[in-house]
Amino acid sequence: MLDRALDLLFPPRCIVCNRIASALCSQCAPPRAPLHRTLGGGIEVRALGAYEGAWRRAVLALKDGRRDLVAALGERLGHALEAADAHLVGVPTSASRRMRRGFDGGEQLASLAASVGERAASRGLIFVARDRQRGRSRVERLDARGRFRAGDTSLAGTHVTLIDDVCTTGATLADAAFALRSCGAIVERALVVALTDASRKRAAR
Ligand SMILES: [Zn+2]
Repeated sequence: MLDRALDLLFPPRCIVCNRIASALCSQCAPPRAPLHRTLGGGIEVRALGAYEGAWRRAVLALKDGRRDLVAALGERLGHALEAADAHLVGVPTSASRRMRRGFDGGEQLASLAASVGERAASRGLIFVARDRQRGRSRVERLDARGRFRAGDTSLAGTHVTLIDDVCTTGATLADAAFALRSCGAIVERALVVALTDASRKRAAR
C-alpha cells in the first residue's frame, strides 16, 4: 500500500533515459541475444550485452551503487540462466568498494539471479586484500594469482557458474576460477552483465 503510494508520488525512472518506467526500461536493455565468448583457461562467458551505449551507462550506474539496478540486472541474469548453470558464485568486490557502494555487486547479482532461476548461490569466494600482497615477491604474487581465495570448501566437485557485472580482459574471472578450482570446484562457465570490446577481441584471437 505504502509502496504504491510512493510509486505514485515518485514514479520509478529508467536509470539510463530517465523515462518513467522500471529501473531499466525495455528500450535501454540490450535487444540482442546474449553474447558468447570463450576466454583463456576454458571459461565460456555469456553476457547480456556489449559494454557500450546505454548498456554501458547502466553498468556504470550499478558500479556507482544504484541498488534498484542490482535488482533489475539480477533479474535479467536470472532469466538468462541455462540448465548447466546449476550453482552460482558471485565475484566479490574489494572491501573498500563494497563500503563505498553499500553492497557487494557480484554477490548480490548472483543471489538475485539464483532466486529468479531457482538455483543455488553461495559466497564461494573471498576477496584477498591487496595489503596482504605487499612484502611478497613478484613471483609469489603471481603464484597466488592475487585477488581471491576459496571461501566454501563444500563446492568440491560442484559445477559453478561465475557471476559478475563486467568482463574486460577476463583476468578477474580467471583469478576467480583459479581460486575455486583450488578447492575442487569445476568452473567452466560465467554469466556477466556486459562484455567489453577488449574481451571480445581477445577471445577472437
Ligand atoms: Zn531507458
